[in-house]
Order: sequence, then structure tokens, then C-alpha cells
Amino acid sequence: MEKDKQYLLDERYLRMAKVWAENSYCVRRKVGALIVKDKMIISDGYNGTPSGFENICEDENNLTKPYVLHAEANAITKVACSHNSSSGATMYVTTSPCLECAKLIIQAGIKRVVFCDKYRNTDGCNLLERAGIEYEYIELDDK
Ligand SMILES: [Zn+2]
Repeated sequence: MEKDKQYLLDERYLRMAKVWAENSYCVRRKVGALIVKDKMIISDGYNGTPSGFENICEDENNLTKPYVLHAEANAITKVACSHNSSSGATMYVTTSPCLECAKLIIQAGIKRVVFCDKYRNTDGCNLLERAGIEYEYIELDDK
């Protein structure tokens, strides 16, 4: 596929991930993720507590509860519950992955990660790089 065409697709999927992040009931930060394979969205996720838990991400001190799942983890585990495979897929995520999610991304066989906000800690991206996973930052100009 030509570079421009891929870029336009990347931008659109990222926008969708951003809209999907609005589902998150987390107050501190809302993150959305999509897993795309062969031009099909095979999974989605946003940060939140596990299924069946209360829809509150922060404790009384406004700290994120330790059992809150990141958007990437939710999207990857959703594939695990389906008949699909994330092997060779691309992940679109609004914030660059943390170290824990980078590990999951590697093990899930995802080959490319596209994001629009840079997380202050770059350990996740460094790990992706070590694993030979392509990661790309795309700036979305939402005005
Ligand atoms: Zn994470």
C-alpha cells in the first residue's frame, strides 16, 4: 500500500481509538485501543476495572486502583476470548504503551503500534523496539 493511503488509514483508526476512549470511566486518563488485522477491527479496549467490578478507577486518594486494566490489555485479552488472533495485527492506541502493555503486545504477536499521545515514560516503546515491533507516533490535529 502507498505511504499516503496507509497514513490516512492510520489517522482514521487513531481517531476511532480516541472516540473509543470516551467509554472509559477513569477520571485521570482515558485511553482507547483498537486492534486491526487485514483492515478489520478485531478488538477494542479502553482502560477500566475488570468485568463485574465497580466502574470506578480511582481510590479515595484519587490514585488509580492497582487492578485497573489498561486499554491495550483489555483489547488483547478480548481477542483471547474470541476466535480471532492478534498475530500480525496493528494496534492503535491513544497513548504510547507502558512497559507492562508492551510485554503483552510482544507476546500477542502484534507487529505494529500507532499512537497519538506520548506517555512520559518511554520504557514501553524501548521494549517494542528491542522486540522489532514497529511503533509510530502520529499527531492528530483536533481543533
Ligand atoms: Zn499499559
